[in-house]
Amino acid sequence: MDYQRILAEINSEISPSQFNGKVAAYIPELANVPADQFGMHICCLQGGNYAIGAQTTPFSIQSISKVFSLTLALLYEGTALWERVDVEPSGDPFNSLVQLEYENGIPRNPLINAGALVISDILVSHLKDPKKDYLAFIRKIAGNPDIDFNLKVAASEKKWGYRNSALINLMKSFGNIKNDIEEVLDFYFHKCSIEMSCQALAQTFLLYANRGCLLDSHEKILSPTQTKRINAIMQTCGFYDEAGEFSFRVGLPGKSGVGGGIAAIHPGKYSVVVWSPKLNPKGNSSMGMAALELLTTKSGLSIF
Ligand code: GLN
Repeated sequence: MDYQRILAEINSEISPSQFNGKVAAYIPELANVPADQFGMHICCLQGGNYAIGAQTTPFSIQSISKVFSLTLALLYEGTALWERVDVEPSGDPFNSLVQLEYENGIPRNPLINAGALVISDILVSHLKDPKKDYLAFIRKIAGNPDIDFNLKVAASEKKWGYRNSALINLMKSFGNIKNDIEEVLDFYFHKCSIEMSCQALAQTFLLYANRGCLLDSHEKILSPTQTKRINAIMQTCGFYDEAGEFSFRVGLPGKSGVGGGIAAIHPGKYSVVVWSPKLNPKGNSSMGMAALELLTTKSGLSIF
């Protein structure tokens, strides 16, 4: 498959200025990011990297971080995790409160904010120094010691984090948050603030395309079953109330973030990351979705 040719075609057929959408202004620090940017990077399991545009520019990975925190929580907590967070698509926005009350403080899945806050609580219980240990884990699976938090973004989100505060307080009232709320929120905001480029993220997501093994060292991080579970949750829940649309148009498991990034994988074949900051009303990158739709259409390959 000539991925470089496909990327060049995508780059010539669509451009950021054609897309409507806004950068995520509810986190003021993210609103400073120039909107008309685009990068894309594909890492193939059989070797080969293909890229176009601003693929080495670091951006705020935001909710894409929820995949990594789910991974680490699964390693510590095992299947007991599923008693505190469900695996159903929510059909609601990422920061919605409504289902939580009906469902007794058990979030629909680990990839919406409520679910990721429970996962953060679990990690705060297990990790000695949560921020440091989490960063060490990401650096390890990324094979990249330079990955770091953006402290300005973390502070900006903390200052305006009223919805996340509401979510965590509601869950605490149901007994589904064990640690101090401020500590869990601080950890959650730092996780979301991690910056990575398309290139670095695609390299990291190879883990999920490779049945849970690191490509270079062959170290097994997740079992094939755990990898299957995470990929299934990305497929059904990775795009909030647009998960159906993403499956319909792209046909790969993936995860978006309000920094404008989308990471996706084709199990056994490749990982791909696209970044373009303008978001559609559901909080997913408008151009990112279009670019990935073109990739799976032009290559004729998706998991379906
Ligand atoms: N940090 C963001 C929040 O908590 C993450 C949301 C997202 O990327 N969808 O609202």
